[in-house]
Amino acid sequence: MTAPVGLPPALVGTGDLFQLLRDGRPRTRGELSTLSSLARSTITTRVDALLASGLLAPVGEAASTGGRPPTRFALNRHDRVVLAIDLGASHATVAVSDLSGEVLGERTVACDIADGPEIVLDRVADIGTELLADLGRTVPDVAGVGIGVPGPVEHATGRPANPPIMPGWHDVDVPERLGRRFSGPVLVDNDVNLMALGEYVTSWQSSRHLLLVKVATGIGAGIVTDGRLLRGALGSAGDLGHVQVAGAPADVVCRCGNIGCLEAVAAGPAIAATLRAKGLDVEGSQGIVDAVAAGEIAALQAVREAGRDLGSVLATCVNLLNPSVIVIGGKLSEAGEYLLAGVREVVYQRSLPLATNDLRIVSTSAGSRGGILGASAMVIDAVLAPRAVDAYVASRTA
Ligand SMILES: [Zn+2]
Repeated sequence: MTAPVGLPPALVGTGDLFQLLRDGRPRTRGELSTLSSLARSTITTRVDALLASGLLAPVGEAASTGGRPPTRFALNRHDRVVLAIDLGASHATVAVSDLSGEVLGERTVACDIADGPEIVLDRVADIGTELLADLGRTVPDVAGVGIGVPGPVEHATGRPANPPIMPGWHDVDVPERLGRRFSGPVLVDNDVNLMALGEYVTSWQSSRHLLLVKVATGIGAGIVTDGRLLRGALGSAGDLGHVQVAGAPADVVCRCGNIGCLEAVAAGPAIAATLRAKGLDVEGSQGIVDAVAAGEIAALQAVREAGRDLGSVLATCVNLLNPSVIVIGGKLSEAGEYLLAGVREVVYQRSLPLATNDLRIVSTSAGSRGGILGASAMVIDAVLAPRAVDAYVASRTA
């Protein structure tokens, strides 16, 4: 472990102590000493440094056991803010959150990803700057920026990698571009990964192992295992859309060129085409959701069948990853129980008993906000990590 430049030796490990306060619960010096097995004098030095940095704030007093009541401290979630951006094919959501992930301000606008990185990134940066001003915050208050894009990303560099629906974005240095406008790290990820993280932090932290599947125009998955996103070697883990469905008709050609891909049989365009062939006037995922809501029998059947196809691929994922919860999100999840019923039918039948013992298969609860909640959580995890806190404390006490 190397201490950040400028951090006095007595303060090395301050970031580790801070991790005990990440949950936002107020604690006394004595409680921190017990939890960390560190001497009271060490705790005092580090708590003072965290107080001076602004990351920690006193919050009332604990019950006294006689004498002066001890002060309690907690994460000061207002110390800095996080900028969270969720880019879709045709919309952008920009939000500002505090350090606990609570969204303080948010705006969604129509925005065509195909306009290219210069126009789109300038646009969302402008909106971010406006939101900060509305909240009375400034650019130096930004701890970091998290952004989700609708395509594959090499997470380590933040560069989109041959994204199919993002012309002009391949290999663009997104962190460098947004870094010109804001302080702190700029972290980029695939939108489905961030939806998975958003769902995890808002509803399923006690479960630890979550698989989120987005079913809309395409199909993709985000995997949270032991509380962390599983991205794979280059960031393409979870690309379920192009797994071949057993028994898929041989004439179903996917946009990727392969035959019988999950996306080509169970995503929005495929279901809509099936329904049109049966005489229903259905366009896109929203049209399918509307037809299901209207009680069209053919739509209910087609969505349930898509759920079964999805379930056949997810059964393999369940055997491989043993998640505690599968969350179905994306536009088609609004078709409600029909999609879930098809998924459940096949997953419980085809997965190993031990893997399905405690498995829950549910609809998204974060919904369309999962992306920004995940983007915010990704940044908070990075900027409140032990070494990042050490560096911040060093910069504030220098
Ligand atoms: Zn394919």
